[in-house]
Amino acid sequence: PSKDHELLVRKLQDDIIELLYSTENQLNSLKKASGNSESSLNEVVQQLKSQLQAALLDSEELGGLESSWREKEAKELQQLVQNRINYVQNPKDCSTAKQLVCNLNKGCGFGCQIHHLAYCFMVAYGTQRTLIIESKSWRYNPEGWESVFLPASETCTTAGQPQAPWTGEASSASHRVINLPIIDGVMSRPPYLPLGIPEDLSERLLRLHGNPSVWWVGQFMRYLLRPQPWLETEINGAIQGIGSNEPIVGIQVRRTDKVGTEAAYHGVEEYMKHVDDWFDKYNLELVKSKSNQKVVRRVYIASDDPTVLADARKKYPHYEFVSDTSISKSASLKSRYTKASLRGVVVDIFTLAKCNYLVCTFSSQVCRVAYELMQTLHPDASRKFHSLDDVYYYGGQTAHEQVAVLDHEPRPGTQEIQLKVGDVIGIAGNHWDGYSKGTNRRTHQTGLYPSYKTIEKFPLVKYPTYPQAMS
Ligand code: GDP
Repeated sequence: PSKDHELLVRKLQDDIIELLYSTENQLNSLKKASGNSESSLNEVVQQLKSQLQAALLDSEELGGLESSWREKEAKELQQLVQNRINYVQNPKDCSTAKQLVCNLNKGCGFGCQIHHLAYCFMVAYGTQRTLIIESKSWRYNPEGWESVFLPASETCTTAGQPQAPWTGEASSASHRVINLPIIDGVMSRPPYLPLGIPEDLSERLLRLHGNPSVWWVGQFMRYLLRPQPWLETEINGAIQGIGSNEPIVGIQVRRTDKVGTEAAYHGVEEYMKHVDDWFDKYNLELVKSKSNQKVVRRVYIASDDPTVLADARKKYPHYEFVSDTSISKSASLKSRYTKASLRGVVVDIFTLAKCNYLVCTFSSQVCRVAYELMQTLHPDASRKFHSLDDVYYYGGQTAHEQVAVLDHEPRPGTQEIQLKVGDVIGIAGNHWDGYSKGTNRRTHQTGLYPSYKTIEKFPLVKYPTYPQAMS
């Protein structure tokens, strides 16, 4: 299938997903407005939802997410990019190799730290430098990065001297060793930032994958998060625990210090609503394929709140809940910056990435890392998630923009904005009710617009193509 065909089928899927959101939302507000909580409207909601789920399933089948060409292409592209990364990370002569030094001392959680590293990695790769990870004072493990993950390089692990601070791509070019500050403080921003995708692979990526920006970040995550044998044993144990044949949905419930500061509280019911929807759709799939399989509804729970598991078990007795043992021990705030906590969060991230579907709040970096890694384990897992709050983003990213594919006239008395086909909109968020919020770059108006009237705009970046790295 051509790239245009793939884009069209994906647009169809998104249209149906948005129609599901808006149908449910509009009928629920009608119900509220009329003070009518009777079953008749509930039934209408249920009927329309089933119908839309059937349509979504058809469109997914049409999309062929697991089709053999896609699996082959995903494997090939992944191999190509991993080879390129491997090439720049393993220079023959470390004493003359250009380096980019990244300090792992950012005072934040693991998800935040690994995003810091991945940003450094993308800039290093973009400027043809070997990434050197400086992890002496790592809060999660004073023994350093390499006692947990494989070293980022086999031939070049110590930073050369002197280290010049990053001042911009052109002005830093002549220094052999540079040190990159955190993304929030970087002056003369390098072009090698998410959500950009490599120009030379863009045609293939846009055909293959529903969100090439995340796929690209995922490639750097994959390389960085190659576990040491002891950690691999832990991860494999957890993954065996969820099995590989039976479907399972992963949920990540981020609470404790995040609630009220960076994110809102969400009850377990909010997550489970989307889990229910996913399993309902899965059941339809079985019926269509005339399978007699009886589905056990299984959920993997990751959280920093030890009460979530018991709460879920109590409220959803017909579900089977699986969780890592560390959930009550070391994920919570009290003992967070320890090796045990690190083990716990990494095991959760890898297990979530393996699940068939992911429900979480994308305001949490833990869940975004899982979603990024997920893209490297499935041919295209871009639509295998629901976020209760933000759309996917990468802290410090270049503007996230969309393009209008339909005109829109704002209805009077609403906060809607006008769209003309071709307008570029900077998206702030999807409200998951049929509408998104953003700023029209042409009119400078900020407000709501129907999500289905836009498509994503993926920025192309001229990354080096490393022809020396044979695939
Ligand atoms: P964010 O604060 O959720 O955006 O993500 P960070 O990774 O930056 O900081 C949260 C930290 O809390 C993580 O690094 C973990 O140490 C811990 N944590 C949060 N959520 C989970 C979870 O689902 N499982 C485990 N094991 N730890 C978590």
